[in-house]
Amino acid sequence: MAVHIFFGFKLYNLIAKAHKNTVKKQGESEAALPVWLNQNIALIDTNGYGFEEAIAAYVVRGSRGAALVDAGYSSTWERVIASVRELGIGLDEIQYIFLTHFHLDHAGASWHLLKHLKNARVVIHEGAIRHLIDPSRLVEAAHAAFGEDLAEHIGELRPIQPERIEPAREQEYELGGVSVEVLFTPGHVPSHISIHVPQHKALITGDAVVVRRGKTPFKVPAASPPMYDVEAAVKSVERLASYNPAMLLTPHYGERRVTAGEFEEQRRIIEEWADRVSSLMQQGMDYKQISEAMRDSLLREAGVKLSDLDDFTRVILLGKLLPLTVQGYMGYLLRRR
Ligand SMILES: [Zn+2]
Repeated sequence: MAVHIFFGFKLYNLIAKAHKNTVKKQGESEAALPVWLNQNIALIDTNGYGFEEAIAAYVVRGSRGAALVDAGYSSTWERVIASVRELGIGLDEIQYIFLTHFHLDHAGASWHLLKHLKNARVVIHEGAIRHLIDPSRLVEAAHAAFGEDLAEHIGELRPIQPERIEPAREQEYELGGVSVEVLFTPGHVPSHISIHVPQHKALITGDAVVVRRGKTPFKVPAASPPMYDVEAAVKSVERLASYNPAMLLTPHYGERRVTAGEFEEQRRIIEEWADRVSSLMQQGMDYKQISEAMRDSLLREAGVKLSDLDDFTRVILLGKLLPLTVQGYMGYLLRRR
């Protein structure tokens, strides 16, 4: 059976790769097809912001059931359902939707998905449950953070029935031959969790790790206002390192083999940003000026020009997400004064 599945996913990946370059268009790009990373874990490209390889979700499938980890924006829920089907997973197999945290690029589609995944319950940190039952504040915050030009990508939010939500416990959830283990990893937000898949030495990190997408040379901490906490983020990185993972499965974006020094580098980047933002604040700069200064230093260090970059990196990563990271750091530094 295992052999069968193995060849199944190899073949599937070959087809997926052959297909991949045919679905791109100018500017915004279609999602890549879902891909099995090993016999139990698959990567789904949710096509967030209308771009390829911007926001990932993952599926872990065992012989007794499957779990989705993260759901993407509400606007892209159909892509997630279609991907589950394309992977050959029955919608009724999915028992859990683990949400690494409540931000809408991770949790937004979960209310939609629950309508189609009849056997699934959402598992999220206890501290975030209220946001799913009443998402109005999340929507407001997301619109304020991204501006109206990106509002269409956020999509509609509706409350989830409390009986379909379970508080995450630090335990293993058995799926049959494979399990997912919840780890509390605060920092990005206090109620952040990551998912460990011990059988594959894999960590589905959520925003507990530095953002690094494809060939983009930039590594940007996933800080976000108003509750970002540098010390907690560093502790979480150390905790992830202690599991000795072979691969990180990141939301922004994709699979990354863990190489020597990976987690030391993560820690260094997270702490360096605090020092740099702090010294720019001391020079009297506001958040826009600090964002520009940080962007320019990333470009300088990477030896690239803004005009050389792809649309996603230029407009979304450096234009929208980097200023949010700066706000996350500024909030942290101001709280500590
Ligand atoms: Zn987030």
